[in-house]
Amino acid sequence: MQDGVMQAWLESSHLAGGNMAYVEELFELYLDDPTAVGDEWRKFFDQLPREGAGVDTKHSAVREQFRTLAKNKLKQAGTVTAGAPDQKQVKVLQLINAYRFRGHQHANLDPLDLWKQEPVADLSLEHHDLSKDDFDKEFNVGSLAVGQETMKLGEIFEVLNNIYCGPIGAEYMHIVSTEEKRWIQQRLEGVRGRPEFKSEQQQKILKELIAADGLEKYLGSKFPGAKRFSLEGGDSLIPMLKALISRAGEQGGKEVVIGMAHRGRLNVLVNVLGKKPQDLFDEFAGKHSNNKGSGDVKYHSGFSSDFATPGGDVHLALAFNPSHLEIVNPVVMGSVRARMDRLGDKTGAKVLPITIHGDSAIAGQGIVQETFNMSQTRAYQVGGSIRIVVNNQVGFTTSKREDTRSTQYCTDIAKMVQAPIFHVNADDPEAVVFVTQLALDFRNTFKRDVMIDLVCYRRHGHNEADEPSATQPLMYTKVKKHPVARAIYAERLSKAGVLESGDDDQLVSDYRDALDKGEIVVDEWREMKSHSSDWTPYIGQEWDVEYDAKISKQQLEKIGVAMSTVPKEHKLHSRVQKVYEERMKMANGEKAADWGFAETLAYATLVDEGVHIRLTGQDSGRGTFFHRHAVLHNQKDAATYMPLNNIRDGQGQIEIYDSVLSEAAVVAFEYGYATAEPKSLVMWEAQFGDFVNGAQVVIDQFLSSGEQKWGRLCGLTLLLPHGYEGQGPEHSSARLERFLQLSADHNWSVCVPTTPAQVFHMIRRQQLRPVRRPLIVMTPKSLLRHPLAVSELDEMTTGTFQNAIGEIDSLAPKKVKRVVICSGKVYYDLLQERRKREQEDVAIIRIEQLYPFPAEEVAEIMKDYQHVKDFVWCQEEPQNQGAWYSSQHNFRAAIPKGAELTYAGREASAAPAVGYLSEHNKQQQKLVDDALTIK
Ligand code: AMP
Repeated sequence: MQDGVMQAWLESSHLAGGNMAYVEELFELYLDDPTAVGDEWRKFFDQLPREGAGVDTKHSAVREQFRTLAKNKLKQAGTVTAGAPDQKQVKVLQLINAYRFRGHQHANLDPLDLWKQEPVADLSLEHHDLSKDDFDKEFNVGSLAVGQETMKLGEIFEVLNNIYCGPIGAEYMHIVSTEEKRWIQQRLEGVRGRPEFKSEQQQKILKELIAADGLEKYLGSKFPGAKRFSLEGGDSLIPMLKALISRAGEQGGKEVVIGMAHRGRLNVLVNVLGKKPQDLFDEFAGKHSNNKGSGDVKYHSGFSSDFATPGGDVHLALAFNPSHLEIVNPVVMGSVRARMDRLGDKTGAKVLPITIHGDSAIAGQGIVQETFNMSQTRAYQVGGSIRIVVNNQVGFTTSKREDTRSTQYCTDIAKMVQAPIFHVNADDPEAVVFVTQLALDFRNTFKRDVMIDLVCYRRHGHNEADEPSATQPLMYTKVKKHPVARAIYAERLSKAGVLESGDDDQLVSDYRDALDKGEIVVDEWREMKSHSSDWTPYIGQEWDVEYDAKISKQQLEKIGVAMSTVPKEHKLHSRVQKVYEERMKMANGEKAADWGFAETLAYATLVDEGVHIRLTGQDSGRGTFFHRHAVLHNQKDAATYMPLNNIRDGQGQIEIYDSVLSEAAVVAFEYGYATAEPKSLVMWEAQFGDFVNGAQVVIDQFLSSGEQKWGRLCGLTLLLPHGYEGQGPEHSSARLERFLQLSADHNWSVCVPTTPAQVFHMIRRQQLRPVRRPLIVMTPKSLLRHPLAVSELDEMTTGTFQNAIGEIDSLAPKKVKRVVICSGKVYYDLLQERRKREQEDVAIIRIEQLYPFPAEEVAEIMKDYQHVKDFVWCQEEPQNQGAWYSSQHNFRAAIPKGAELTYAGREASAAPAVGYLSEHNKQQQKLVDDALTIK
């Protein structure tokens, strides 16, 4: 407020009247919540000085200051206004505030009326020293956004009940931002709890409810007993989603990515995305295409289409989803982020994520927390998501709150990011559509998550073959008698004169006829245009496809210098300075390349070629083991600089983010990103490879089998530090055996590169070869600085990634009596020991790609050793781990007929490694010895 305006207001306000008790109470109210008082009071209180950072204001000097100010005003005014304001005025404002805070606890949310709502004292008149006797008294409504300054208490009370205790239960007072709270108040209170819909809108909603119900009835009668995970009970989801997409398009949205579990999925596919009903019926009838791959059950299927909106067509993508209910959420977010990047959309204005949750799953599964935590971070923000809970009040057979969660609502997790939460009774589709639009507008305005809790019920059991009354007898006694949402709404519209009698039946039979024809039933459906990145260059490609990865030495040196150059004013830490000085020498060919140089050079050459790279991981900027230093921290002002983004004008961008401390959601996010963008090189790095098991669901359900199940290609690379260096059971193994066990159908490649040149070629191959399948890399730790693990620049300008590497010392093959085959760091242990022993009768072969096994390359190497009968597979991992059990059939097939293959390595063990360094050293020495000593 301008000073002059403030002055005028002060003089006209109660402050000039000496009503100290009143103003003090008002001030207390303001301190509880700034939106509780009217705008003018709030602005006035806002101007009072705060102690410290505004904490503990109640006991601060603020009030004293405010009293003095009031006294001065009093003196200046020289008078006491006649008629002190009613002391009840503040009580009224308190009542309003109480409804804003706790009205949802009395809201009419449960269609079955089973929720036991405890009476909330704050919502009673008596609690605020008010009574019905005051109903006719006029009060100032403070900040209540109903469009008038004063109202009778009776009206206020009614309006409050309509707004906050009707079919919408709004939880938003946990939000700290006054602006956001005021925004929500304006929207909720502005319509006084009764949003008005035009009759065409109402008819549209009715048609959508008819479609929701009609499809389930149709499927139920045509395919009785078949699992369909019916939406029935939560029918309003269909008008809700359509309203959401339509409004998103109206506000400039171009793409919507939806993630949902199986409940209601078939309905969403047919009635929102416009999947042809006939295609669905064919799936029910067991027909399927002869595409390669395993396929998946119909209620896991994804789908893509376009959808007409007032703002133009919006592209819709429903993500494929396994039965792990919530894991698809970060996948959706990753897909959205990739689309945002493609559209140059930094804020999420053009791409909307919608995630649909079950009430038990959202409260139960930790991945939800992870995605909330990611929602505002640099690496993962998508401008807010719309999160919808289809809250049918039961998870499979479990519905007692004391069994499913420890929170009042299943949505309480959303409060961790101060997301507003709108609970809404699913039997009131207008309220549903109203909060949906409000939620989207909030997300688009504030770029933050919003939660809608669609409180409904489940008409059948978990699936249609289940008997729910066995475990939920009372609920299902009610459900059986409960009319469907369509019927309730049709009756409402008939009463309102919007619907003629018989219209409803006609619409129902029209929808059934449309299904009989098997044609698309969504009016807004449009043929898909190419919104997505073009996947055709990658479809059907095999590993041996030709690709061009050549690069001249001159170019390599130039790029090497550029990526090793740091502006003078960017003061580096002395250790980092040293790394960069060394890199410059490597770039100039004065020193052999180490791992960090070669890896960084691979990225630099790719961005130079215009490729976009995204690398995330818990310490990826620096590298867990101090080797990467791609993000440089200025020692003077902590500013960061990335040489990789300063190679040349117009280059591709590289994004490197230190991730939130998660494996599951982060890997799922990167999977989502990589399945939506084939042109980017997408990489995730584990802090220690061991922790990748925190993302096991993503690896099992998506990464290893997404192409097989759903035909979705994904070029995600996982960098997993692996190697036995005496750091104990949790810092040794990236669980190579698990990746190898899941290897089949050429689903991915599993590599264990041992030289800087190899890592250089491997990274470039992953991007330049037109194959988009995951790359799993066992990356080294001690090899990052191992004196033997170095490469000359020439090794990078010639050749490509070698899937297998033969003996490098000049042993005479004829003298070789044993061939040791190995992968990874143990190679150097073997090499050093053999050199120490000056042994010439053991050759060492490295398998750099364990899957797909490079049979041809190995056969080529084996040509020299056809006379050898003694072959050894040597590994650092215990016998039940590593490659021995999963890959020995490949090793056996590679050795000459009649030769023997034996094992040199640690004994089988439940733990990946021992915890004692001395024991580790003993074991390591023994396995090297076993491998080299011919008895
Ligand atoms: P979307 O933008 O996800 O709706 O994808 C549009 C179309 O692109 C899909 O229907 C597929 O034909 C194709 N497509 C999208 N993602 C992939 C992928 N990861 N692998 C193969 N094809 C894809």
